[in-house]
Amino acid sequence: MNLQTPVTDLFMVGPVFAKKLQKLDIQTVEDFLYHFPFRYQDFSLISQINRLQPGEIATIKGEIVSLKNEYTRFGKKIQKAKVLDPTGQIEIVWFNQPFLVKTLKIGESYNFSGKVDWFGRQKVLLSPEYEKEQNQKSIHTGRLVPIYPETRGLSSKWLRSLINSLIKQLTPQLEDFLPEEIRKKHDLLGFPQALGQIHFPQNLKQAEQARKRFAFEELFFLHLRVLKRQASWQKNKLAFPFLIDQEKVLEFNRSLPFELTGAQKKACREILTDLGKDKPMNRLLEGDVGSGKTVVAALAIFMAWLNNVQVALMAPTEILANQHYQTLKQLLEPFGLKIFLLTGAQKAGKEKSTKPDLIVGTHALIHKRARFQKLGLVIIDEQHRFGVEQRGQLVEKNLVAGKTPHILTMTATPIPRTIALTLYGDLALSVIDEMPPGRQKVKTWVVPPQKRDGAYDWIRKKVKGSDEQCFIICPLIEISETLQTVKAATAEFENLSQKIFPDLKLGLLHGRMKSSQKNEVMAKFKQGQLDILVATPVVEVGIDIPQATIMVIEGAERFGLSQLHQLRGRVGRGAKESFCLLFTEYTAGKPLERLKALARINVGLKLAELDLKLRGPGEIYGTAQHGFLELKVASFADLSLIEQTKKTAQAIFPNLDQYPLLQAKAELDTIKFVEPN
Ligand code: ADP
Ligand code: MG
Repeated sequence: MNLQTPVTDLFMVGPVFAKKLQKLDIQTVEDFLYHFPFRYQDFSLISQINRLQPGEIATIKGEIVSLKNEYTRFGKKIQKAKVLDPTGQIEIVWFNQPFLVKTLKIGESYNFSGKVDWFGRQKVLLSPEYEKEQNQKSIHTGRLVPIYPETRGLSSKWLRSLINSLIKQLTPQLEDFLPEEIRKKHDLLGFPQALGQIHFPQNLKQAEQARKRFAFEELFFLHLRVLKRQASWQKNKLAFPFLIDQEKVLEFNRSLPFELTGAQKKACREILTDLGKDKPMNRLLEGDVGSGKTVVAALAIFMAWLNNVQVALMAPTEILANQHYQTLKQLLEPFGLKIFLLTGAQKAGKEKSTKPDLIVGTHALIHKRARFQKLGLVIIDEQHRFGVEQRGQLVEKNLVAGKTPHILTMTATPIPRTIALTLYGDLALSVIDEMPPGRQKVKTWVVPPQKRDGAYDWIRKKVKGSDEQCFIICPLIEISETLQTVKAATAEFENLSQKIFPDLKLGLLHGRMKSSQKNEVMAKFKQGQLDILVATPVVEVGIDIPQATIMVIEGAERFGLSQLHQLRGRVGRGAKESFCLLFTEYTAGKPLERLKALARINVGLKLAELDLKLRGPGEIYGTAQHGFLELKVASFADLSLIEQTKKTAQAIFPNLDQYPLLQAKAELDTIKFVEPN
């Protein structure tokens, strides 16, 4: 057995368990060992039975003097045992575990760990963990006991036993892939010791030491991954270097109905500098919704056209592709560019005879084999909705004479600095951190349940018979647009249109509608034929409707702050005062505090950083909001560890081949990496 042994080869794991383990992402022995406890239950003190107090969590050590199954009045089976130690006796009660009567033996001694509680009028130990008292080290009782992320049918106890036996078997043969010099320098535990201590620490300090080692390792490998990606991107890759004619740049600027902001100008300069090189650009353009990224992209497209290469622009949804198509036509057709739209909605095989200068599209750009003769620039909007692989496909398929297209990625997702350093370390970054002049602040209110009716009345007054419009975004149920999300949205739409706003015109938009339906609804909303658009969270990105002044977000606490901020950015685009209403079931507590931050703070990046700080483990908006990878041990809030590990990775990367164990581990890259998508 070694780390790569599949779990199905393990004695204790049959096909049923293997399936359950897969739910926890455990497929190999290594995955098992890296399934870390998320907390420890302190069963370390052995209590005397006569001292037990109801309400406390305790471990006792004693002999079973009686043991039986009993039926309750309601026909449920319970198990009762009397246990004796030198100070006294207590009854233990379990529910529905009839096998215990066979497993445990009268006359033998065990450790029991659990909660002391009242059972009727009797003080008992309720459903404790138990373990035969032996000289060997115990793992389930009488110590700090690891509690694992569980899934149905896989208990912490089962996981604990298996992990314990794996550690015992493997520890003698495990070698550390982190070079000793690194471990020494950063004061890190060795691999086998860290494994032992993270699962079965003697005390919390030991657990902390072990976590430090694994946090270091986790970030270190992320940096190595980025370095690898960067090296392969740069290796032998040549791009078409664009000739940048400053006269033409000015001509483009003069064609705009407004002056570019300072931040836009800076981004333009950075991009044009990259485009002039024969190394392919790989740049991320980050800016809040409405900050004016599209114009910047248009300038890059214009330059590509002047240099006789083609451009592909890929957007995550049809609506967005359509919108970009319209905008770019307006900006660029006057110069003579030929611009096509390619989405899944269009019939295949409708080949145009003219050669396009720019194709705007969705995934269809990849799947439908858009034909480029000389692709020189690829622009991707909202990159984290695409796998990096897909991006690669578009590039690879269109290499011309060994030339790689320049890539510009645009995102409205504010990427906290620590995440940019870790996950996107290979991308050059341009940030548009300034809004075009004249943009108003969107007034933001948190609406608790008791104010909901009032809010509905207020909305009605605003939109009825006026040209103002309202978005209502349905709660985020799952991260992707599942059937469940669609059902919830449909139900909400029916409720709203029949019970709450029967006098208004409502439309529904979700990702599973046919694109012709979607376009129809969008067109109606744009033309003011609808008062309210009910939409799922997934559809909304980037829609541009200037007369919409109200954004309502249902179940707001389920969203990340920066995601809420993005949604809020859909309104306030016209001249009229705009509002964002955050509906929530919470009337107090942390979730409410979080939402209130949104009323105060108006900068996406600040909100994203705050989210990172406030997040509890396992909260859905964590991944939903940015789609970034979830870290297991380390935290994106830990700037100093991120910088340390980055330096370490950079220093060792050029000499990786001198560290065969490390290199092998980096090759395998077994740290589960959820590519942003
Ligand atoms: P983003 O793609 O970053 O969300 P857009 O490029 O769609 O933003 O721009 C949003 C709106 O602002 C568009 O209507 C655009 O014409 C306008 N705009 C962009 N830059 C400026 C500017 N410098 N001054 C005034 N309006 C601008
Ligand atoms: Mg946009």
